[in-house]
Amino acid sequence: MDVSRRQFITITGAATLSLASTPVFGQPAKKGRVVVIGGGFGGATAARYIRKLDPEIAVTLVEINPQYTTCPLGNAVMAGFVKLKSITHNYDVLRERYGVNVIHDAVIDIDPVSKTVRLQGGSELVYDRLVMSPGIGFRWGAIEGYDQAASELMPHAWKGGSQIQLLRKQLHAMPDGGVAVVTAPEIPYRCPPGPYERASLMAYYLKKYKPRCKVLVMDAKPNFPKAHLFKQGWESLYPGMVEWVSSDSGGQVIEVQAKEGILINSEGDAVKADVASVIPPQQAAKIAHVADLVDQSGWCPVELRTFESTRHSAIHVIGDSAIARPMPKSGYSANSQAKVVALAVVAYLNGNEPGEPSLINTCFSFVAPDHVVSVSAVYRFGEKGLKAVRGGGGRTFMNGDFEAEARFARSWYKNIIADTFGQRT
Ligand SMILES: Cc1cc2nc3c(=O)[nH]c(=O)nc-3n(C[C@H](O)[C@H](O)[C@H](O)COP(=O)(O)OP(=O)(O)OC[C@H]3O[C@@H](n4cnc5c(N)ncnc54)[C@H](O)[C@@H]3O)c2cc1C
Repeated sequence: MDVSRRQFITITGAATLSLASTPVFGQPAKKGRVVVIGGGFGGATAARYIRKLDPEIAVTLVEINPQYTTCPLGNAVMAGFVKLKSITHNYDVLRERYGVNVIHDAVIDIDPVSKTVRLQGGSELVYDRLVMSPGIGFRWGAIEGYDQAASELMPHAWKGGSQIQLLRKQLHAMPDGGVAVVTAPEIPYRCPPGPYERASLMAYYLKKYKPRCKVLVMDAKPNFPKAHLFKQGWESLYPGMVEWVSSDSGGQVIEVQAKEGILINSEGDAVKADVASVIPPQQAAKIAHVADLVDQSGWCPVELRTFESTRHSAIHVIGDSAIARPMPKSGYSANSQAKVVALAVVAYLNGNEPGEPSLINTCFSFVAPDHVVSVSAVYRFGEKGLKAVRGGGGRTFMNGDFEAEARFARSWYKNIIADTFGQRT
């Protein structure tokens, strides 16, 4: 190490110690320190791209879990045609090839004035820029009787992992002739077409093994994304098996009695389910609330050119926690937003201004293993903010090539995993 480098570390080390009273850990960096909270689609992509764009920026990624199970393809795991292992990923490549300092711990507090992040394990990290992609939290109690304990009986399975396995187990143990219910919340929530994909793949499994069963979708909305395509798939693949009840016809569930398997709608009618997947109303993840990054909607307002919080400077919020209308809350949106943030952070830490971004999203939904429907959009800035570019996207045609879309969906999954975690599936 030459003298100037040693001096630099001494200087940055001293600055670090003056900022916090408890021990502060972090990599020495020539150009600055970035802390990323959350190692999902948004956070892992941001960490990787910042290091790719400028290896002189130190990046620390804080993620609670040592492995990440994706929600994409989670419904396929429930239906039994994809293995849980194949949608579970680790952080080895980020650590080893990209030099990201990965810490498995929970962030419990953020101080935007001293620019420090406190971890449950007791240590603190200092940042020049903070990127947050912590995902969603649930509005427990918004449906009466639906709390964390109730979700062990009526799984939401909306964060991957053990809940997906639980739902799979329940579905596979269901008696022939039984009723499976999926509830869908009001917008905004993670993965708008997800509840309908779940209903489709429940029907796929049940038609094969328990053909006298029914799937009921109870919706808090009067309509849903790609409705005509889903309905066409249900009619052709699972005739008479899937029923969708809109909010106009009493679809909104307002109470559950989880032990009894009962769901009660806004008109007071009760439905008895053999299996119920209750997807509750959502909000930004807890740490975004703790850090005062949410507004009255429960989500994080951001300046959409850089995803910098409008409430606290030098903190960028991406992914499901952010308000990024008209982009839906999806893994692909989070991945695209992460690249915009990586470019912005690298520009700021090099003394430059960020450029004008362009964003992208595609949502593929499985109606069956070889029958997929999709919707895509490209987003740019116009006079009225972020807008979908006319002609830049599209959706599956009625009677389209659903089999080809199924191939595209599987290929999309491989590519986005490689882009997010730096590894092949
Ligand atoms: C059934 C289902 C199917 C889906 N299918 C698709 C699909 O086909 N395509 C698609 O694009 N999207 C899909 N999605 C949506 C996608 O999963 C989410 O939009 C995406 O995961 C959002 O990424 P994120 O980075 O915001 O959050 P996440 O991916 O949830 O990552 C957040 C991470 O932050 C960590 N974290 C949270 N708080 C802390 C803390 N305090 N300290 C440290 N770490 C913390 C969490 O452990 C988690 O790993 C689907 C969702 C569901 C439920």
